[in-house]
Amino acid sequence: MKRYSVFAVAREGARHHTGWERAWRSPEPKKSYDVIIVGAGGHGLATAYYLGKNFGITNVAVIEKGWLGGGNTGRNTTIIRSNYLQDSSAAIYEKARDLYETLSQDLNYNVMFSPRGLIMLAQTHHEVRGYQRTAHANALQGVKTEFISREKVKELVPIINIDGPRYPVLGGLWQRRGGTARHDAVAWGYARACSDMGMDIIQKCEVTGVRRIAGRVVGVETTKGSIDCNKLGIVVAGHSGVLAEQAGFRLPIESAALQALVSEPIKPCMDVVVMANTVHGYMSQSDKGEMVIGGGTDSFNNYTQRGSFHHIEETVRALVETFPMVSRLKMLRQWGGIVDMTGDRSPIISKTPLENCFINCGWGTGGFKAIPGSGWAMAELMAKGYSPLAAEFSVDRFKEGRFIDESVAAGVAH
Ligand SMILES: Cc1cc2nc3c(=O)[nH]c(=O)nc-3n(C[C@H](O)[C@H](O)[C@H](O)COP(=O)(O)OP(=O)(O)OC[C@H]3O[C@@H](n4cnc5c(N)ncnc54)[C@H](O)[C@@H]3O)c2cc1C
Repeated sequence: MKRYSVFAVAREGARHHTGWERAWRSPEPKKSYDVIIVGAGGHGLATAYYLGKNFGITNVAVIEKGWLGGGNTGRNTTIIRSNYLQDSSAAIYEKARDLYETLSQDLNYNVMFSPRGLIMLAQTHHEVRGYQRTAHANALQGVKTEFISREKVKELVPIINIDGPRYPVLGGLWQRRGGTARHDAVAWGYARACSDMGMDIIQKCEVTGVRRIAGRVVGVETTKGSIDCNKLGIVVAGHSGVLAEQAGFRLPIESAALQALVSEPIKPCMDVVVMANTVHGYMSQSDKGEMVIGGGTDSFNNYTQRGSFHHIEETVRALVETFPMVSRLKMLRQWGGIVDMTGDRSPIISKTPLENCFINCGWGTGGFKAIPGSGWAMAELMAKGYSPLAAEFSVDRFKEGRFIDESVAAGVAH
């Protein structure tokens, strides 16, 4: 595969862009693979990439029922941060954030990582105490965050109203190297790198069954026929329960739609990401100028990928007090993705009761930021049977009561 570079862009410019290759191959499935990953979202593709890069395992197929990156990976609001409370969370999210720093170079694909800084607003005294606690925990974990004053918040976000009548801004948890990346590019970059290593990314192919013999996985049934494998990774976010049922086990997961919306493009007005957990809304400005606004999760379980009017109203109403300019914005688009949520709001990266079958799910409303770290850990678990980053996230924790409670860190949909 040809490398992308400034010289390649100049060369192709000179010949009217007629020489670009397809970014990845679209092969028909082979009869058998060493490893099959179900789900070509960011986590599935990153798992395949690190299997190849870190462990030399390249006889891999990534099977996707739709188009790659068409699930939550292509539907999220792209916030990247690692300011979680628990040690095991901070470790994996910070590993991911750190990998994002050089991901464009590693993949030779511009993922537009933009560490513009991120503030979580403290708008109640309870939040002030909570975020000060997180800042102390982060200091011990080696994650760089600080609790900043309301004046500093205003300096960083001039459009904010810090004197709101109900919820004045009292300060904020600031992560200077948090930010955003281009979601599609993350999926496309990993896909291109996987294809370049000889892996097969098979789109429009749904896994409809998991084949097992004597408690061990031996392959999958798909809409393109039966495919054998030695190891299986299930990385299907909102459909995790469906695939687990096919594999013969149950998961402590609920699926629901999470919504987001973007405004019309406007001139640059906010160059950091702001999350307002008390009023439940968050916002950043895309490179195109749109205000990217995160809404809430549907309050009932469902598998839809649609938006709904009451979410626009609720989300925008919540934000207007803190960002009065939002009242004058026209909203352009709205959508939903199916998020997979665990009771403690932490992910599952785990072996399963079915031998050689592994699962990565439960990232809920906040897994985009984790993609590189999650893929790294899942690949290690699948290749070696153990990953220090994944150890705490085993599904057994729900049996043993070892919860990793991130319900505060994950309090707002993000
Ligand atoms: C509106 C919204 C906003 C969000 N905002 C943020 C944010 O700001 N920051 C953040 O960190 N996270 C955010 N998230 C969460 C984040 O998007 C997800 O946690 C993450 O993208 C999950 O990636 P994934 O690869 O696990 O899943 P997905 O990208 O959903 O990929 C799973 C894939 O599996 C495929 N699949 C399912 N069943 C089958 C089958 N039977 N056979 C074959 N393929 C199958 C699906 O088609 C899908 O492509 C948001 C999510 C939403 C919906």
